[in-house]
Amino acid sequence: MAEERISLNFIEQEVEKDLKNNKNDGRVHTRFPPEPNGYLHIGHAKSICLNFGLAEKYNGLCNLRFDDTNPEKEEAEYVESIKEDVRWLGFDWGEREYYTSDYFDKLYAFACELIKKGLAYVDDQSAAEIATAKGTPTRPGTNSPYRDRSAEENLKLFGEMKDGLHPEGSRVLRAKIDMSAPNMHLRDPFMYRIKRESHHRTGDTWNVYPMYDFAHGQSDAIEAITHSICTLEFEVHRPLYDWFIKNLGIFESRQIEFARLNLTYTVLSKRKLLKLVEGDFVTGWDDPRMPTISGMRRRGYTPVSIRNFATKIGVAKRDGIIDVALLEHSVREDLNKIAWRKMAVMDPVKLIITNYPEGEEEWLEATNNPEDEMAGKRQLPFSREVYIDKSDFMVDPPNKFFRLGPGREVRLKYAYIIKCEDYKCDEQGNIQEIYCTYDPETKSGSAVSRKVKGTLSWVSAPHAANAEIRLYDRLFKVEDLNQVDDFLEHLNPESLVKSRQAALEPSLAGAKAGTHFQFERIGYFVVDKESTDDHLVLNRTVTLRDSWGK
Ligand code: ATP
Ligand code: MG
Repeated sequence: MAEERISLNFIEQEVEKDLKNNKNDGRVHTRFPPEPNGYLHIGHAKSICLNFGLAEKYNGLCNLRFDDTNPEKEEAEYVESIKEDVRWLGFDWGEREYYTSDYFDKLYAFACELIKKGLAYVDDQSAAEIATAKGTPTRPGTNSPYRDRSAEENLKLFGEMKDGLHPEGSRVLRAKIDMSAPNMHLRDPFMYRIKRESHHRTGDTWNVYPMYDFAHGQSDAIEAITHSICTLEFEVHRPLYDWFIKNLGIFESRQIEFARLNLTYTVLSKRKLLKLVEGDFVTGWDDPRMPTISGMRRRGYTPVSIRNFATKIGVAKRDGIIDVALLEHSVREDLNKIAWRKMAVMDPVKLIITNYPEGEEEWLEATNNPEDEMAGKRQLPFSREVYIDKSDFMVDPPNKFFRLGPGREVRLKYAYIIKCEDYKCDEQGNIQEIYCTYDPETKSGSAVSRKVKGTLSWVSAPHAANAEIRLYDRLFKVEDLNQVDDFLEHLNPESLVKSRQAALEPSLAGAKAGTHFQFERIGYFVVDKESTDDHLVLNRTVTLRDSWGK
């Protein structure tokens, strides 16, 4: 369903190697493992397309796994939004909706097993003492005085921690690996810490919670994930995951790392996105300026455009930054195919056709989508008074201006050629009305001998529907937000401009939320969820101007 690509990306190459060697009996099983501590963003969309895409391509399966090891940050609202977003992107996890918290018993048993093997111990040192003893990348750490506790004592203490007999911060369970390992992650990392927190699924059952590093690889093993795809920062954790798996003797998933997506003019971190929401810099996680999947959906981006974008950017082994114009290009590309064209005037001024009979109307044929024959035609009302856009008229136009001016002729799209005879201004010189005559012989579709350079959009004034239009621009003014200290200092104050006066062709009245349109010569728009029958609200998805590759 995504765009065709000829060559394999490096992850596909690795998967095909494994298939060729009949590793895992030719099975491909991936997972998408979000932490439910925020809404998904376009970076997650890349990971979703990659994981579900690999499963589709190799007739495998992809699980949805909520990595909910951390009790304090996770909420049920996020779980629901994540499911909605993955589905909306067009992917299906079937019955395989899993939670790391479902594995808490198994993980606890794994920890006890390592204790029994002399490979884990309870450490009573304070966090500060442990940090100091850890050493630095160039200086080895020192062993904890509690490192050589007996397995019996460790088991007893760990059991007491679980039963809530020890206060938070008083003890941790650590893996007994090597305090002088060059890889800091192997210097007796934490496996469990005490937390007296309620968990959104397990309630108050647990007083100890596994660290992400102890949970992630084992969860992959429990689900027999063949290819565990993750972002580059986990490359240095891989030896630790392998150590746990080897010493537990459980299923070996193969971890493959790729570069996370960075986009220009965009922040992609749930922590930062949460700050935007909590600080009221945006109206919520689904604000149309947010790089969240729900924000993009509300903005009018389509699942196809996001999937095509993911295919176009591919996967890389090194961090880089992708031009957001490529994403916008993908959106235009899809909307161009599916969005029906509509007549709309953003900043209306009245134009009166003085030789058109008063009280008369006629219905003219308009094409719904020149890119799609099946989209058919519709009828547009035309009458003596129409709106055109203020920017389409100039009292003293320069030569290159092919629109309307005194004495000039233009075509009203799908209608007639008109000629400007006069106009009226207020005291400040603002145009109030334009007076024209029309040539009844020049109706669109009839054999017309005359050609004019300009064609204008218009809307019949007595028939027009009104709308609140929300024009969006980038949320940030700087290109690379990874290079700035405080991203909140770089917000674009003009990222949202509202206008209330737009005039639209009447077929738009009552349009349903989520419907896409192209307003001729203006841009792509979508009906917002706040829209009602009495008050139409439209979001501008993107302008027509494509800056990609220009
Ligand atoms: P964030 O920093 O936004 O919180 P995260 O990596 O902590 O991101 P998770 O919920 O843990 O968020 O991520 C779920 C999956 O999505 C992980 O496999 C992660 O690698 C992937 N992912 C997250 N952000 C990106 C990104 N920018 N590009 C590609 N994949 C991403
Ligand atoms: Mg995370």
